[in-house]
Amino acid sequence: MRAAIIGGGIAGMAAAFELEKARAAGGAIEYTLFEAQARLGGSLASETVNGVVLERGPDSFLSEKPAAAELCRELGLGDQLTPSNDANRKTYIVVRNRLVPLPDGLMFLIPTKLIPTALTRLFGPVTKLRMALELLHPPRPSQQDESVAALVERHFGTEAVNRLADPLLSGIYGGDATQLSARAVLPRLVEMETEYGSLTRGMLAAHRKMRAKAANGAAAAKSQGAQRPRTIFTTLRGGLQQLVDTLESRLNPDWVRRSTAVSGLEKVEGGWRVSSQGKNEFYDAVIVAAPAWAAGVLLGAVDPLLGEDLGGIPYSSSITVNLLYDEAKLGTLPEGFGFLVPTVEGRSMLACTFVHRKFLGRTPPGKAVLRAFLGGMRPEALLAQSDETLVKTVRRELSEILGPKVLALGTEPEHVQVSRWRRAMAQYAVGHLERMKRINGRVAEWPGLRLAGNAYDGIGIPDCIRLGRKAAQEIVAEKELEVARR
Ligand SMILES: Cc1cc2nc3c(=O)[nH]c(=O)nc-3n(C[C@H](O)[C@H](O)[C@H](O)COP(=O)(O)OP(=O)(O)OC[C@H]3O[C@@H](n4cnc5c(N)ncnc54)[C@H](O)[C@@H]3O)c2cc1C
Repeated sequence: MRAAIIGGGIAGMAAAFELEKARAAGGAIEYTLFEAQARLGGSLASETVNGVVLERGPDSFLSEKPAAAELCRELGLGDQLTPSNDANRKTYIVVRNRLVPLPDGLMFLIPTKLIPTALTRLFGPVTKLRMALELLHPPRPSQQDESVAALVERHFGTEAVNRLADPLLSGIYGGDATQLSARAVLPRLVEMETEYGSLTRGMLAAHRKMRAKAANGAAAAKSQGAQRPRTIFTTLRGGLQQLVDTLESRLNPDWVRRSTAVSGLEKVEGGWRVSSQGKNEFYDAVIVAAPAWAAGVLLGAVDPLLGEDLGGIPYSSSITVNLLYDEAKLGTLPEGFGFLVPTVEGRSMLACTFVHRKFLGRTPPGKAVLRAFLGGMRPEALLAQSDETLVKTVRRELSEILGPKVLALGTEPEHVQVSRWRRAMAQYAVGHLERMKRINGRVAEWPGLRLAGNAYDGIGIPDCIRLGRKAAQEIVAEKELEVARR
């Protein structure tokens, strides 16, 4: 079986690794991994400067989703897995230039602790009153999808959207709470609303169940003499580039084509014709792991309805700016991992991470890394700016938010790194699940075709890995079945 994988981001690489494993296990499998850029890895890219790991794209993955850590272990990187420094986990929201900590007990946007919610400076008295009355909220009669902002607004009011939903979602998805689908992005909240009406009551019930489960798990682990605390985020000691490099080293180099964009895709008898650099080649199967906007162009020629649905998935662009400082030149940073900036603050920055605090051991003592995240749904003007202008903007905004005593405007960073990510993060807009039903229905009509990547069923690294591997397993199983039937 010959398979083409289009796109060498983490999803495409995971698919190629899975095919490589099937080949090593004796399968008659060949694959070609096509990547338009000169390097593999897509958004995953890091480098080490003066002993400091600087991530250009993602900096970590969620520990609760196992696919990424499992792949790292399988690749022999288990000893490189590094947990986030959760003892120091504290996040702030910028409110009129001041850093206000997120109140204790906040779960998935939902306040669950009375006193911290009553005392927080994040919300005014009207919102606090709404939060108390939310306990009486009736279930929603309609099953129709709505935006995350609409869901939060109905339960907690506009201030909760502006100071909570908006910054948290733009910090995670680089997206807009007024556009993102509640059903696709926060399905648990939608289920809770259906069951309990009140999200707070739903979250408290879920919390009780989780605590009981954790207590049982801890008792079981203790009786087996083991207890593994899990932190929220996990990364790799040397940066996520380690995952890209190790994965690449496991692939057959003759079957990896960098700087080779696929320009055409055609369904032919018994397989697919893949065109790149003026060449047409036959493959039995194709895994399209390029972003949905690129997949839409390629597959639109084969199936216009599929192409239209893929092309209709919105994407956001973003910019990361890493600033490396000599810690002695800074004042004392506030405790914690960093802060989020609500859109209503009118700034270019969406978030800032104190990298040296979030992951210990990736920054030598005496150095501090402040990583700014800029973008959202309308970042074109920012993307067009020079590195110099972007760095100047970030330094000014950091100085204004942290205060000149912590970071004086004139304090020169030792190193700066600017990375632009154009249309890199898919946005699960209202109606995404319906769109996915249509997409899955169309894909199922085409033998030997699978999709993988961040546009479909999870934006994070673990989901992309899971989908990439699953696509490869399904292609192998489909072809085995075909052979068995002949
Ligand atoms: C700045 C930033 C920060 C992030 N932070 C986190 C984080 O902390 N944790 C987390 O879990 N996730 C994070 N994410 C999300 C996560 O990194 C991405 O969702 C994931 O890496 C996407 O992987 P992918 O393989 O689907 O797509 P991509 O990485 O976009 O790869 C797709 C590849 O397809 C190639 N391609 C496109 N067209 C063609 C063609 N015609 N022929 C051949 N190749 C083609 C592209 O060049 C690209 O390399 C972040 C993303 C960004 C941009």
